[in-house]
Amino acid sequence: MADVSRRGALTLGALGLAGLIGGPVGFVVLFSGGGANAGSCDGGGASVDASGLPERVGDFAGEQLKNAALIMGAATSLKLPVAGQIIGVQAAIGESTLKVIDFGDGAGPDSRGLFQQRANGAWGSYTDRMDPTISATNFFKVLKGIEGWESLEPSRAINRVQRNQDPDHYTRFRAPALAIVQGLSGTAIEGGTCTDPGASVVGQLSGKWVHPLPGAQMTSGYGPRGMVGSIGGALANFHYGIDFSTPGQAGTVLAVTDMKIVIATDTDGGTGSGTHVKGQTLDGKLTIGMYHMASGSLRVKAGDTVSAGTPLGTEGSTGNVTGRHTHIEFFTGKFDDPWVPVNPTTDPLPILKEKGVL
Ligand SMILES: [Zn+2]
Repeated sequence: MADVSRRGALTLGALGLAGLIGGPVGFVVLFSGGGANAGSCDGGGASVDASGLPERVGDFAGEQLKNAALIMGAATSLKLPVAGQIIGVQAAIGESTLKVIDFGDGAGPDSRGLFQQRANGAWGSYTDRMDPTISATNFFKVLKGIEGWESLEPSRAINRVQRNQDPDHYTRFRAPALAIVQGLSGTAIEGGTCTDPGASVVGQLSGKWVHPLPGAQMTSGYGPRGMVGSIGGALANFHYGIDFSTPGQAGTVLAVTDMKIVIATDTDGGTGSGTHVKGQTLDGKLTIGMYHMASGSLRVKAGDTVSAGTPLGTEGSTGNVTGRHTHIEFFTGKFDDPWVPVNPTTDPLPILKEKGVL
């Protein structure tokens, strides 16, 4: 796990959010960083880079990034790790697109502010709910009170605070939240989750390649397809990976080559990627995702380094799918949290053919 550096940030001890001064976009937040280790639950959060907020991160700019900085500051003041900062930003994107909105919605007409907090007394006064720092602080206080929030799938953790209907509602805001926290801190964040980090090396690393799901048939290729709408924030009319399905009974999903596991998420949810594993090849050229495995079947942890052929989990049908299969996605480059369509994918088929696997 790489330490998140304090590059460019002024450290002001435990003071937390210490001041607002003019900067490139008229706003700079200075607050304590601590020696954050994003992959564990120790240490403070990431500092906002004191040289100024970026003008834009993905679809977010200006006011939205100021609010994200205030959310990160509120987390730091409560001594929450980077994982907490990302969760806070992720929640606020899902609730308000990081804008302090003075209106609610059908489910909560009295909801207000960045976190759409209700007027039920639990979230303070109207003024509190409209204040970025106070509303974020109140969000984080509830999050901190949830036993084991660090090991919950992030959208599920947010759902426990927000008590919204769909526990996977926030999943698609994970990648932009991670991008924002990285963009504002000026540092790469590894993993971004706060689960018990694995550190095992499984098997003999050899650089070999194996079939990801022995006995399975390829059922769908990479590229355009005839679907409408979106899946997990990605357009449904493009298939960003390839699918394998094993006839008869569920197969075992294997690491196609030696890789460092960066994400191992177990969820029985019916949206998004379901139970999935993402790993980086040791040469850093590819990040490989394997999705929709059976809940409870994962055999690796984020942080583990596994050799080609290591069983990762069992083929399943978790996430937004219609039947049991494994969706495999290749991202070009080294990503801690690859996400379609934010990160570039490539067709796995020619690579698997070149490696003699298919
Ligand atoms: Zn697929």
